[in-house]
Amino acid sequence: ENTTTIQLLHSALNQFPEKEAVYDGTRRLSYRELEEESNLIAAELNKMGVKRGDHIAVCLPNWYEFVVILFAIAKIGAVIVPFNTRYHESEIEYILNHAKVKVAFFTDEVDGNKLWDSFNKVYQQHNYLKHLITVRANTRLSIAYEEVVKHSEYSEFEKVEVSPDDVAIIMYTSGTTGNPKGAMLTHRNVAFTGSVSAEVLKCTSADVFLIQVPMFHIFGMVPGVLAAIAVGAKLVLTQEFKAENALKMVEQEKITVHHAVPTMFILELNHPNLEKYDLTSLRTGIVAAAPVPSEIIRKIREKMHCEVLSSYGMTEASPCLTFCTFEDDDLTRAETVGRAMPGVEVKIINPENGEEAGTGEVGEIVARGPGIMKGYYEMSEKTREVLSEDGWYRTGDLGTMDDKGNLQIVGRKNDLIIRGGFNIYPREIEEHFYKLDEVQEVAIIGLPDTVLGEVACAAVTLKKGAVLTEAKLKSYIKDKVADFKVPDIVTIVEELPMTASGKISKVQLQNKLKEKMA
Ligand code: ATP
Ligand code: MG
Repeated sequence: ENTTTIQLLHSALNQFPEKEAVYDGTRRLSYRELEEESNLIAAELNKMGVKRGDHIAVCLPNWYEFVVILFAIAKIGAVIVPFNTRYHESEIEYILNHAKVKVAFFTDEVDGNKLWDSFNKVYQQHNYLKHLITVRANTRLSIAYEEVVKHSEYSEFEKVEVSPDDVAIIMYTSGTTGNPKGAMLTHRNVAFTGSVSAEVLKCTSADVFLIQVPMFHIFGMVPGVLAAIAVGAKLVLTQEFKAENALKMVEQEKITVHHAVPTMFILELNHPNLEKYDLTSLRTGIVAAAPVPSEIIRKIREKMHCEVLSSYGMTEASPCLTFCTFEDDDLTRAETVGRAMPGVEVKIINPENGEEAGTGEVGEIVARGPGIMKGYYEMSEKTREVLSEDGWYRTGDLGTMDDKGNLQIVGRKNDLIIRGGFNIYPREIEEHFYKLDEVQEVAIIGLPDTVLGEVACAAVTLKKGAVLTEAKLKSYIKDKVADFKVPDIVTIVEELPMTASGKISKVQLQNKLKEKMA
């Protein structure tokens, strides 16, 4: 735990200099090439006057350049601020401003989102932003990544002593519940969580990781990229998620570690060509970031012969707090997110008085350990709300713990629906709907009601070609749960709104349905 991201890279480099480190569909880089190219970028940043502690934005899809830039920034002691490639101008401006970014790496556009225009506008208007560096862009600017790599004759730069307690990343949260907050993660935080994730998954240098979750999200960055580097494994990056492309990649690159959010696994499992691909190389992976329907864990094993482990965490914890293990029985693997990972403490408290809850009792999940952030960047009040002086972090999630320490997620404190004084935990109802063959995805949310305060609404998407009526869904759920838990409204929708990290956005869904019902 006393290490930095640079040390992770150098340890792999020393052991396996010529081994393939990264492949993104366009280029394959060995560990030696990754080291050398990141030195060139570090030297360029150095020339621009970037100093230890300066903030550098990176707004790119999962391209190999992202990995190079990540290490270049670390080598000069600067801080990487990953940007969601779906952000629009106002969001880009908000974070550039908030984090006082000095240099920004970005590309022309991603999926039609014109990043060049947005970054350039902010650059014209604010003088804290000193330099723009484009990557794979057609729009000519004074500095392009490709030119730097091609023309640099030297890769000398001022070596800075980077300490494990220096901030490595300011990672903005997904914004599922409101404005994104910038979690300051130190080298110790992310190097620790990266290494331990690799350890829990029993990874070695022989592994090949498939990273389809974005690297600008903590899941792609730490248990993805850093875990792979920690053991000298190979990284396969995909730019955008397409179920069939994922299956193709597994076969072509002989993927062994397959990370994904539940939605991605669901789409892969339901793909009509699933059986055409050779998936026998698959060994394990993490499924996390959002509630994982227990059916999915079983189906991944049955149809993909892959022993995925569920994990639970958040940006603020860089991100993993708990893991299931290969030794756990089926029930534990399907129904819980496992136990606190080595070096981490997790407990359940009564949110009202802070006392520890009893076995099986619902309460707020709190955690302490080497992965927990230093605080939110320039949000000291918000930081004090969630971080106690003795290092405990309040997650804002509700859960229960059994007598073996296995954690079961009940849901977010904010998602709890209180209907006429009765608590409804959306997760519980969602699990029932997932047992239906026709159902692709489901989200239960609360909608305001003048009489009951709130009512529950289920928005459901069906699998391709499936036929099912709203009335049937409602009578199905009536049989399963107490009457007050039966959603007042059940609606079949074409699609559910998603955040860029691949989660169902309950806030957007709520707004949409409020409009529809009005
Ligand atoms: P914001 O904090 O900006 O509203 P966010 O909380 O979605 O967004 P992340 O840090 O990406 O941002 O997500 C962490 C949250 O995701 C956790 O607090 C938890 O609610 C949920 N989560 C993560 N893993 C799991 C899991 N295995 N099961 C259920 N929920 C999970
Ligand atoms: Mg959060």
